[in-house]
Amino acid sequence: VAKNAGKNRYHLFDPESDRKAQLHRSFLELLNIALINREFVLYYQPKVDLRDGRIVGAEALIRWKHPERGLLSPAEFLSYIHGSPLDQKLGEWVIQEALAQGEIWHQQGLPLCISVNISADHLIQKDFSAHLAFALSQHPDIAPDCFELEVLETAAIVDIEQAVEILESCRRLGVHFSLDDFGTGYSSLTYLRKLPIDTLKIDQSFVRDMLHDAEDLGIVEGVIRLANAFHREVIAEGVETLEHGAALMALGCHLAQGYGIARPMPADQFMAWAEQWQTERAWLSLKPALLY
Ligand code: C2E
Ligand code: MG
Ligand code: MG
Ligand code: MG
Repeated sequence: VAKNAGKNRYHLFDPESDRKAQLHRSFLELLNIALINREFVLYYQPKVDLRDGRIVGAEALIRWKHPERGLLSPAEFLSYIHGSPLDQKLGEWVIQEALAQGEIWHQQGLPLCISVNISADHLIQKDFSAHLAFALSQHPDIAPDCFELEVLETAAIVDIEQAVEILESCRRLGVHFSLDDFGTGYSSLTYLRKLPIDTLKIDQSFVRDMLHDAEDLGIVEGVIRLANAFHREVIAEGVETLEHGAALMALGCHLAQGYGIARPMPADQFMAWAEQWQTERAWLSLKPALLY
């Protein structure tokens, strides 16, 4: 005990780690203030069916409109909130905001399905499904089966029994789940079978290199087969070119998301994009590629 106390004391007075902890705390305070000041915004990236160009949904992706530093991507701030109460607060804001936006589009004649990303810490909160039920009840225009939660493969398997329980209770509300960045985690097939997941999202790293890397192509093929075998939907992220789209269609993956279709955009640009996408009909050029 004395030895441990000594160690702790050493850490308590370690000026370097103390400084880091303080920086972390003040950064969290900044993020809390940013939430109050409504500095967070959601961008939306469409998901389409490459067979007919149908827009099947939009994924909400958070940005921080920093008053001085401009638009910050999630990589620049999300990791700091893990394990803090802000994780849940921000997650609840994202759900509310995305539902409200979905409702606006619905009223404007664009009935999109909406997906949001959920952190593991937020998902395993005991009252997660109760909060979700409340949020859904406040936005009756959005059918729960048109609302999707994207969960990282790694998040779902920390405590598989607990994850299954939470996912089940959310699914009773009607919402759908997808496993994000699929292929980068360590899910065994047993886990995959147990998890009530509707969709596998092929990680963009495999998609990006599938045209010139045989191993990545093999992984993409494997995930598509896995999805078929388990009767799950499959979607590819990181579809940057028409060639990627054509190759994916040839393999039997029709749902796609990526810069080649559209970059994430502010909500007020989505309607104009959708109209242009419909008139351009660029996806039709993917069809001949199916023949080779
Ligand atoms: P993700 O959910 O896997 O989202 C895909 C990321 O790849 C997004 O980055 C998107 O902008 C980017 N992306 C989409 N298409 C392409 C493409 O064709 N090429 C390339 N190179 N990138 C593409 P973003 O918006 O920076 O988000 C990064 C990650 O941050 C997300 O990965 C997600 O895990 C997390 N995230 C974003 N918003 C939220 C949120 O509201 N809550 C939580 N908990 N996590 C979020
Ligand atoms: Mg996602
Ligand atoms: Mg992803
Ligand atoms: Mg990712």
